[in-house]
Amino acid sequence: MSSSGGEFSFELRVSRWAELAWPPAGSNVPTSSSGTPSSATVVARQLGTRKRRWDTVIVEADPAGLRERAAFGARELDSDLLFVVRNAPAGWEWYRDALPDPGYPWRYVRETIHRAAARDLLETRRNGNRIQIRRIAPYPDWVRRIVAIENKPDLDASAARALADQLQHDVDRGLADEVWLATASTGGRVERALLADFPVEAGVLAFDFSAGVRPEAASVEWLPSRLDAGDPSEGGDRSADRRRRRLELAERAYGRGWRSYHRTMRPDCRSFELRRDGRLLSPWCTAKVRKQTAAECSGDCPAFSPEPPAWRTRGWPIEGGPGKGIKRLLRRRRRRVRTRERDGA
Ligand code: SF4
Repeated sequence: MSSSGGEFSFELRVSRWAELAWPPAGSNVPTSSSGTPSSATVVARQLGTRKRRWDTVIVEADPAGLRERAAFGARELDSDLLFVVRNAPAGWEWYRDALPDPGYPWRYVRETIHRAAARDLLETRRNGNRIQIRRIAPYPDWVRRIVAIENKPDLDASAARALADQLQHDVDRGLADEVWLATASTGGRVERALLADFPVEAGVLAFDFSAGVRPEAASVEWLPSRLDAGDPSEGGDRSADRRRRRLELAERAYGRGWRSYHRTMRPDCRSFELRRDGRLLSPWCTAKVRKQTAAECSGDCPAFSPEPPAWRTRGWPIEGGPGKGIKRLLRRRRRRVRTRERDGA
């Protein structure tokens, strides 16, 4: 399959590879006694903080914790929901007695409680004019490590200089446990001179996708060191703040995954297809006769042509029309992978 589609296409390939083969051979990720990785993986793309967005994020999860997390549904829990769900009591209590002081008006907490109850994330009942809450289950400690990958398929000298600063920033912040650069293999080893300014704590992966996405597509060029899990002198608040931000990031990864591109692209365009690229189903535009980027595949695309209404009726060729069929297919694949990771199958 041709390799157009730019960084977006590379990003999807790296994300699918991570789902198939993380951790890379030779890395220092803990394994079980049988040699298989002891963690389940949750892969997402385009996540981060207000200041920094990573291309690919891998959450290494405790499989049992991931199974328990499933009790809270497939959608992410935002920071407000996490506050309520993590502190909800095992037995009925007035919410103001049960929850720690939120640091903002209680009426916002009440709104969050109603939102959580509507999603079956906790139970509520009234005692007079007081709202009582009770948890459905303890919120599990499911996140083990967070790995951030920056994708740069065409690594030249100026891209390497810009990336070196970003990776140094990631290393300094220590929000992730490990930071990697992913680049395209150029046949030989990645030029050492390009990596000269990179922080030694960042790892480098080179990918050869000439035969499509497959578990063997990656080679480790440089092993990262584990980043410091926070300066002990930072004190309890800083480290509690870091834990909270990491959990919010992991929740976003859990809820969004990496296949959610169908929400912003136009699978309802008659030119949108999914084509096989090794073990990946990749977006393909029949009008452009190549992989399209996420940015160009929008309602503003000059070649956008909505699927005719007739395609959405009479079950052609998939019930609901190709656009809806593609979305369903991507959601189904995500569910299947999530179940496999949870159950260790
Ligand atoms: S024609 Fe434009 S909108 Fe339609 S699939 Fe191609 S890139 Fe997307």
